[in-house]
Amino acid sequence: MVATEKKDIRALTRDQLRDYFSEQGEKAFRGNQVYEWLWNKGAHSFDAMTNISKETRAFLDAHFVINHIKVDQMQRSNDGTIKNAVKLHDNLVVESVLIPTSKRTTACVSSQVGCSLNCQFCATARLKRMRNLNPDEIFDQVVAIDRQSRLYYDRPLSNIVFMGMGEPLMNYKNVIAAIDKITSPDGLGMSPKRIMVSTSGVPKIIRKMADDQVKFKLAVSLHAALDEVRTDIMPFNEQMPLEELKDSLKYWYAKTGQEISYEYVIWKDINDRQKDINALVDFCLAIPSKVNLIEYNPIDDGKFQQAPPEVIEKYVAALEREGITVTVRRSRGKDIDAACGQLANKH
Ligand code: SAH
Repeated sequence: MVATEKKDIRALTRDQLRDYFSEQGEKAFRGNQVYEWLWNKGAHSFDAMTNISKETRAFLDAHFVINHIKVDQMQRSNDGTIKNAVKLHDNLVVESVLIPTSKRTTACVSSQVGCSLNCQFCATARLKRMRNLNPDEIFDQVVAIDRQSRLYYDRPLSNIVFMGMGEPLMNYKNVIAAIDKITSPDGLGMSPKRIMVSTSGVPKIIRKMADDQVKFKLAVSLHAALDEVRTDIMPFNEQMPLEELKDSLKYWYAKTGQEISYEYVIWKDINDRQKDINALVDFCLAIPSKVNLIEYNPIDDGKFQQAPPEVIEKYVAALEREGITVTVRRSRGKDIDAACGQLANKH
């Protein structure tokens, strides 16, 4: 006899779980209890569900699986950053990072295995996209980091950024479903204001997010405000040029009233000229926004090199002169390859 494949119980909605229990001749509220174990307490086994009878747990176990992630390897940086290599049920691996500061703990989570975009400066881009993560696989990364934060830093996780592997807007449906579980009161109950989704800039989906009235924050990895430069370092820009990106961001702001954060690395001989600075200032003036200048984390051969401090200062001065908020961000977790753009399953 061929065993029928067990279904992943986390693919069911709360209503479907309630219906399932009713169909089995059980009370529908058992569905709520199981739902709470799965999405509020992050249970990874039916055995953990202690307010459910032993028989019911055994029955669930016979019919369903909980396809959870497993933290396969954990590395801790000397600045306190923790990087997890996370194994998925099909043995693929993604990485997620815990970044502690004096006041917060931020989880940096992955949304895809590999990435379909081809940013020339990013280590993840070299992996190619293997598949999208499911909502529960994104959710589990958050739960794992929350537990580590409590264990090592004595406080719960406070913020989440979608800046790990992958392009979240290319896996929009599952990212939204995960954020729903993370923010809803019967899930983890986190405020969407503490979640930031970072995109390399997919105009069509930015418009969709605006239409969907999402409540989380938006960051855009800009890195260049001139098409010829951006296409050179982020080749997909050819299909989604800056004008289209800008229009979608205007639409976002009009619909949500939320300002945008631009992430920007300044590289020697790439975007270190006065005209690059002017173009960024113009781009910023089009929509309420701020700029995070991020440090380059070298991944290879030297095509990309961080520009010297004088150039960074020129950028800062030009932006501030126009009243644009700019922060210069130091990298965290570099010694364990946990910094932006370094996630590439090296272990
Ligand atoms: N795909 C999404 C999220 C992942 S990347 C996005 O593009 O926004 C997270 C951030 O790290 C992005 O701003 C990205 O441009 C930046 N990044 C990629 N490689 C980097 C590197 N080598 N050094 C510094 N930042 C890098």
